[in-house]
Amino acid sequence: MIEQTQSAAKGSGRWTIDADGWLRGARVLPSPNCDARPDDGDISLLVIHNISLPPGRFGGRWIEHLFTNRLDCDAHPYFAALRDLRVSAHLLIRRGGRITQFVPFRQRAWHAGVSCFDGRERCNDFSIGIELEGADTQPFTNAQYRRLQQVTTSLLARYPRLTPQRIAGHSEIAPGRKSDPGPYFDWSRYRAAIAQSLG
Ligand SMILES: [Zn+2]
Repeated sequence: MIEQTQSAAKGSGRWTIDADGWLRGARVLPSPNCDARPDDGDISLLVIHNISLPPGRFGGRWIEHLFTNRLDCDAHPYFAALRDLRVSAHLLIRRGGRITQFVPFRQRAWHAGVSCFDGRERCNDFSIGIELEGADTQPFTNAQYRRLQQVTTSLLARYPRLTPQRIAGHSEIAPGRKSDPGPYFDWSRYRAAIAQSLG
């Protein structure tokens, strides 16, 4: 049923966003790792990330478990470092393009950490975080670019303070500390697709 809805949304290329900031048709898995924005009228930055658990390995439910505080930290040596971590993102886009939403856009997700964009700190306050299932060492999929472009277009239409100039990688707002979405994320492809959709 969820897959059918996502296929329908994919066909039209449009996603509806409700008053609380839920993407209609996305799979929903609420995360407790969120709180109120200082100003929920100020959504003015989109941050692109990549994540895979363990790094470079795709599939499985580890990312969802991390974002919902259910990760079994003994299941893999890498996970030990994630113990007690409280993080989330608004959206996760899987390798096949499937979208899961953890936090409604109106709420503050905990994805950026110590960060600064255009002279302003604490980017979580005013940003939306999208995770692409991926790694710094390999390309993203066509399905991910397609979905990311669709969702970005819908977000730009829904939140007027969000503009194509206010889309950044995690590495850009947390330089030296974060490297994602990494060298394989094709910014020119992404930006060209957005420009085209805005026509
Ligand atoms: Zn990140």
